[in-house]
Amino acid sequence: MSGAHEEEVVAKFLDASSRGDEGQVTSLLSAVPSLLDRTCPRGWTALMLAARNGHLGMVQTLLRHGCDKSGVNSSGQSASDVAKFWGHKRVCVLLGEREEDGDGVGFENYFGAEPLDRLSAKRTDAAWLQDRKKHPDSVFLLFSDLSPMLHRDQQGVQHLCQLDYEAVKDLLEKPDCVLIFLGVEKRRRSTTGREGASGEPPAWFAISGEEDGAALLGRCPHGEHECSFATAPHRDLLNLSDEDAGVLAPARALLAWHRRYAFCSTCGSATISEEGGHKRTCRKQQCPSNKGIHNTCYPRTDPVVIMLVVHPDGNQCLLGRKSIFPAGMFSCLAGFVEPGETLEAAARREVCEESGVRVGAVRYVSCQPWPMPSQLMIGCLCVAMTTDISVDRSEIEDARWFPRRQVTEALLGGGSRPGPGPVQSGLVLPPKQTIAHQLLRNWISMVANL
Ligand SMILES: [Zn+2]
Repeated sequence: MSGAHEEEVVAKFLDASSRGDEGQVTSLLSAVPSLLDRTCPRGWTALMLAARNGHLGMVQTLLRHGCDKSGVNSSGQSASDVAKFWGHKRVCVLLGEREEDGDGVGFENYFGAEPLDRLSAKRTDAAWLQDRKKHPDSVFLLFSDLSPMLHRDQQGVQHLCQLDYEAVKDLLEKPDCVLIFLGVEKRRRSTTGREGASGEPPAWFAISGEEDGAALLGRCPHGEHECSFATAPHRDLLNLSDEDAGVLAPARALLAWHRRYAFCSTCGSATISEEGGHKRTCRKQQCPSNKGIHNTCYPRTDPVVIMLVVHPDGNQCLLGRKSIFPAGMFSCLAGFVEPGETLEAAARREVCEESGVRVGAVRYVSCQPWPMPSQLMIGCLCVAMTTDISVDRSEIEDARWFPRRQVTEALLGGGSRPGPGPVQSGLVLPPKQTIAHQLLRNWISMVANL
């Protein structure tokens, strides 16, 4: 091929990949196999372009031809970085960067995966629960002071430590042990091949006992030196696989609820755990809480609105920082929804209270369970009507408008232009496991030039 003709064929190939035209890509590759890993001037391969536009079939075709998936473009991004940035989760799964949710539906945020089927109808079936509890395939997660026992594998990756019935049966007999039925596996994992004799998938439970941490570690099947309890939940619990995080979220929130609701909030009598740990019932028979349905008997979830506020010019967003944040870190504003308040009203009120900025339109984006102890973070995109900032120092330390470019740079992990005050070392954003990070990504991706 002549130089000019070759360039033309490469451009045609990359364009077809970008559009998801599998027929054309296949025929070009059969004529010129060396096209597979060719790049455009910015270093983008066909795989990156297909990943950028979420063309699942095209990504499969290119992988089948043996393309290089580890290459990076001139901005240092691999195909999976691009797919992750644009939120194409199925493409991420194909590129080996993400585990699929049990039912293949996918999920938006960390702590949001649902690898277990909660089987809520079985919570009142005491005989079934008793049978599953003693089943050799059942999995028990052990908690001490709301921290799960974690096991670090040879690659240094942390997992929830899975114990069997034999390892915990004496704990289960103790009166202070709280047992929670979490659900059954949506799919049996091929690596373990676990399958109940009854053909039912393994059931998972969380338990919390008063035994001290060191004694609990002695029960670990990997050996006590291989395991530990998370010491800093906000750090240690953000480094799990998506699947483990999805199991941890309900387990930790429920255990925290049991710890705080040992007594009836209506009459002050002791309460007992029922329905696989999903209800607490007052021991006093005449208690009003035992008639009808009361929210005092069921685990609570506290709604929190978290807002990315966009400037009226569309090119800046409002972020705030609390004094406890690491240096340079800014995040989305957030606050609890009050009784009798809509999400939109709560979003407008919180933004105004913390920053003085008035918000018009509020749009829901996605949500995230946050088991610290039991919030539901409801992510919204808001459009500001005013731009003057007046910070309420009792709530936050600082709030500023940040230009899109600075946010993009910080998201991509690059440095940022130095600014006055605490941003001297560059803007630092919350980690990708947080919904604040995902709201920022969502905003950037709407009109990114990446
Ligand atoms: Zn009561």
